[in-house]
Amino acid sequence: MFENKQNRTELSSLGEFGLIHHIKQSVKLTQPGSLKGIGDDAAVIDNGPGRTVVTTDMLIEGVHFDLSFTPLKHLGYKAVVVNISDICAMNALPKQIVCGLAMSNRFSLEAVEELMEGINLACERYGVDLVGGDTCSTPGGLAISITAIGHAMEEDLVYRDQSAVNDLICVTGDLGAAYMGLQLLNREKKIFLENPSVQPDLQGFDYPLERQLKPEARLDIIQRFKTWYVKPTAMIDISDGLASDLMHLCKGSNTGCQIYEEKLPIDHLTRELGIELGLDPTVAALNGGEDYELLFTLPLSEFEKIKDRAEISIIGHMTDASFGYRFIDKQQNVHELKAQGWDAFRA
Ligand code: ADP
Ligand code: MG
Repeated sequence: MFENKQNRTELSSLGEFGLIHHIKQSVKLTQPGSLKGIGDDAAVIDNGPGRTVVTTDMLIEGVHFDLSFTPLKHLGYKAVVVNISDICAMNALPKQIVCGLAMSNRFSLEAVEELMEGINLACERYGVDLVGGDTCSTPGGLAISITAIGHAMEEDLVYRDQSAVNDLICVTGDLGAAYMGLQLLNREKKIFLENPSVQPDLQGFDYPLERQLKPEARLDIIQRFKTWYVKPTAMIDISDGLASDLMHLCKGSNTGCQIYEEKLPIDHLTRELGIELGLDPTVAALNGGEDYELLFTLPLSEFEKIKDRAEISIIGHMTDASFGYRFIDKQQNVHELKAQGWDAFRA
């Protein structure tokens, strides 16, 4: 829909090394631990005392993104953010990334520059360094694989398996907006394909669109945990949907859970868009995914430390495993929580 066809420099006119040189020019290192960045056979990092945390996420054209409505700058930004979110979910601080890029000759140098603009912006925003990567060609399509490296002291790390019965279930920010934003983009794309003279109508829904196209990782919360003297018993970032990700915490910790519909944080624009699209905002919050908020548990004794924090909602509590996974709706009906989140290999 939004492709820019002016100023096209073929990647073949630079070659692989020319392209890597071009990428290197756009990168600044800021982390004291980044001893050697792009340009040798491998990057060199000084991690100091503590633990190194590593994670990778791949984004494949046609599977994870649709270039007909995803600007390349946003895609680059999101590719970095989803990895930083995983580092944050360990209660660790992100430090470096490496980036694998595979693309066909359909992409020009200008397209790579746009993608790099988004990657570099996210690096700047989260204070991480791009210290290496790999660049290769594909017969078609675009793939981005980012690996993020983070750091934490052993005692600060938070896993998925230490929740206890009666722990409070907490979530940051609000849920369901990214899913609603995607449904709006898909609707407008369909209308555009049927009648290219109709311009997309995305008015008034900036927030859900931004949540889909330009998500943020909750590094701010990880930093605040330290000043609040809060350490979750278990934590995960919400990428697949609240229901699915909460069940990961329950399975990891061998607990059940009970959460309440009336406590789910949902933005008013998510609700309004739900009405417009005929979609239930509660379903979007439970099963939509791509929120990149943090879901964590805390002992009841920590209640005072978080009860008045605007950025945190307490949505329920952990129960004995024998209670199963319970969802209480606004009419006080009890439902079994089902993980209908994204599963890469489900039929
Ligand atoms: P090698 O052949 O030794 O794997 P490359 O020619 O692939 O080296 O890469 C040269 C340097 O450029 C390395 O430091 C590598 O990490 C970096 N690099 C390659 N592609 C990218 C990329 N897409 N983003 C950032 N750094 C990259
Ligand atoms: Mg290489």
